[in-house]
Amino acid sequence: MNCIFCDIVNGKAPSEIIFEDEHVLGFLDIRPLNYGHSLVIPKIHFENFLDVPKSDLESVVAAAQKISEAIKLSMNTDGLNIVANTGRAAGQTVFHFHFHIIPRFNSDDFHFKPVFKNYENGLMKELADKIRKAVK
Ligand code: 5GP
Ligand code: ZN
Repeated sequence: MNCIFCDIVNGKAPSEIIFEDEHVLGFLDIRPLNYGHSLVIPKIHFENFLDVPKSDLESVVAAAQKISEAIKLSMNTDGLNIVANTGRAAGQTVFHFHFHIIPRFNSDDFHFKPVFKNYENGLMKELADKIRKAVK
């Protein structure tokens, strides 16, 4: 299997590592949305958020919080976006699970421009019922 993030974990590809422990690696994204944009990954290869076992996910989340604090402190950010693109339709391009930690500033010109929908005629409850039934 060809995976650039596995290559980074194994030291076969270069990266600017900012955090490492037994289970997790944090490093700078090569194409940042803002400088300091970081990625946090489990060292073991899982395709996406839905595939990561709970214990690995817990390690990644704990590291993501630690790295977020460090980015906020060292870069004096006003905010952060913490994102896990899950699936091609959601913009995932590297299929080794990762959180993006994106530094945000009041002055940056980086905006999400979503078009919000309105729920009509009981659709909100209908969908909530469907999801509630599916929650394990
Ligand atoms: P995705 O689109 O899957 O959510 O995010 C993948 C991210 O990995 C992208 O932001 C991309 O810039 C980053 N990326 C892809 N290849 C490399 C690489 O070789 N090194 C580093 N540091 N980041 C990479
Ligand atoms: Zn991998």
